[in-house]
Amino acid sequence: MEAEHDLSPPTGGTSAAADAVASLLSSARELPEDIRDTLERVATDLRRTEGELGSVVARYRALVEQIPAIVYIDVADDSMATTYVSPQIETLLGITPEEYTSDPHLWTRHLHPEDRDRALEEYVRGRESGEPFTYEYRLIAEDGHIVWVRDSATTVRAADGTAAFIHGVMLDVTDAREAEEHAAFVSYHDHLTGLPNRAMFEEYLDLAIARARRADDAVAVMMIDVDDFKLVNDSLGHEAGDALIAELAVRLREATRDTDLVSRQGGDEFLLLLADLEKTTASGMPNATDGGTLIAESVATRIHEALRAPFELGETEVYVTASIGIALFPQHAADATQLLRDADTAMYRSKQMAPGGYSIYADGAQDMLGKLSLSTRLRKAVENQNWELHYQPIVDLVEGSMKGVEALIRWNDPNGGLVPPGEFIPLAEEMGLIEAIGDWVVNELARQGAAWRAEGLELELSFNLSPRQLWQPEVGNRITERIEAANIDPRRILVEITETAAMTDPDRTLRVLRDLRARGLRVALDDFGTGYSSLSRLRDLPVDVLKVDRSFVRDVSSQPANGSMVQAIVQLAHALGMTPLAEGIETQDDWLFLVERGCRLGQGYFFSRPVVAEDIMARHRRSAIALVEPA
Ligand code: C2E
Ligand code: MG
Ligand code: MG
Repeated sequence: MEAEHDLSPPTGGTSAAADAVASLLSSARELPEDIRDTLERVATDLRRTEGELGSVVARYRALVEQIPAIVYIDVADDSMATTYVSPQIETLLGITPEEYTSDPHLWTRHLHPEDRDRALEEYVRGRESGEPFTYEYRLIAEDGHIVWVRDSATTVRAADGTAAFIHGVMLDVTDAREAEEHAAFVSYHDHLTGLPNRAMFEEYLDLAIARARRADDAVAVMMIDVDDFKLVNDSLGHEAGDALIAELAVRLREATRDTDLVSRQGGDEFLLLLADLEKTTASGMPNATDGGTLIAESVATRIHEALRAPFELGETEVYVTASIGIALFPQHAADATQLLRDADTAMYRSKQMAPGGYSIYADGAQDMLGKLSLSTRLRKAVENQNWELHYQPIVDLVEGSMKGVEALIRWNDPNGGLVPPGEFIPLAEEMGLIEAIGDWVVNELARQGAAWRAEGLELELSFNLSPRQLWQPEVGNRITERIEAANIDPRRILVEITETAAMTDPDRTLRVLRDLRARGLRVALDDFGTGYSSLSRLRDLPVDVLKVDRSFVRDVSSQPANGSMVQAIVQLAHALGMTPLAEGIETQDDWLFLVERGCRLGQGYFFSRPVVAEDIMARHRRSAIALVEPA
């Protein structure tokens, strides 16, 4: 049996026959001439046939062993023994043909566990059918990697019609299989997050609804929409937006069970499918919330919790909320299309009423418009740039003239009038919105400064930098770019940072301030006296102006303690080569006291409250007239 399937050159067979004839010829010399001739011809023919067969076998062997496929011959019985396998088996599985043919269970053992039963079944069925058969399965190579194989085999029958051998060819189709799987994956998945896409979601939803109908269960669909996503895109760029979406996908997956389907529907919208939910309540009370709704609500809460921690986008931390709409089958809708529409409606309602929350679909209850949360209003303000800059004059206390202005931001909130910075700057910092706001401030100040100059008013322009902006990597660059674009001399700009911010990380502050100064900008230490500067730190800080905090300036003239403090700070500033500036001068007595103590600059309600830009211009015109007119 073996010899028939060994494709190596024959060693027995024809050459043995030729040798037998030759020995017959030599031993029987007395044979009649004609028989002898015949025998000699037979011997010659046999030798030729042997040669020809040898070359045919060699040609077959070359063919079989060089094609990029594995040829095998199995015995067609339950032993499944392999009598021949071409050497390519070694490339495919890392097993030599000798190992393969010596162990009839080797193939079975290398079958992928998930494909084993099916492949064995198909092999036996194919063998029994007698028809050529083709099937695909995975094999695990010796080194553990998985190969996909397309196996095409035919049963070869013996003369009596019984199955004798199985001749087969195995092709490595791993690449094709992977490409196919990838294509299927791509058409059903979102490439940014790797989550199932809308198409896949809808297929699953249809199945889930069909199942729920049969089992009298419920299905919940949740539409999750990021609040003010556009803002992140606009202020931080599309890459940051993409990074946020990808991270959101991870958090949504983590906040849900493996059996829940999270899908990205596009943009900043996600869909969540909760299937096989209990329709009835455990209590069985007629008006009690049903089990499905309860689960959906608890998932919504989990999602909100998962979004609570800030998202790290490069150097920036962003706080994100999402509004969620919930709709259930069969409570709200009878089919997938309607269910999706209801979830969408509920999501919009949630956004209108209380962004960052969730709402369950309810017919006809769409007219309730609640008050927007502060954080949502603030995001909207950033989006619409609902800001105003007011300017407070900085006065030369000796001459009484306006040297400059400090820009102070106000939020023009459609719901609540002008909101002072103390009420929204801390929240904006926490929400990661301060960079966008700060950029607006510098832009607007530069624009206004250029407009004033065009009207003949050259002022020193101060603005406040929040601690977070101070740690922005490119803060100096961002400021100078805008200042230079407006053609403003950086030496006219005074960047104010609070003493507290400066001392949080003095080494870092030192580097930032040096950078600002190297760009020609000037620096003021704001609210001085409220932080905890050590004198040695203060000495090293490259600061031009020391702004004495309002709390010390108030009632300097009448409160001896305040008076001595202010005097000490003014002297300290001089000693360090800085210019003292008193904030919050409210009375003439305060003013005179400060002048006497050598404080040359100040600001406060006594001179002017922060006012709009036109008022600064009007004030300038008045003082110009006052100078021309005789006193
Ligand atoms: P600040 O930089 O110390 O600004 C001075 C604050 O004192 C201003 O309050 C101003 O209106 C107020 N003020 C001036 N003179 C007097 C006075 O005589 N009496 C009294 N009682 N108050 C006076 P405002 O505008 O409410 O600003 C508060 C703080 O908000 C500012 O303190 C500053 O730290 C911050 N801020 C203002 N604008 C911005 C901004 O554009 N960006 C950042 N990051 N912070 C800002
Ligand atoms: Mg200030
Ligand atoms: Mg201040």
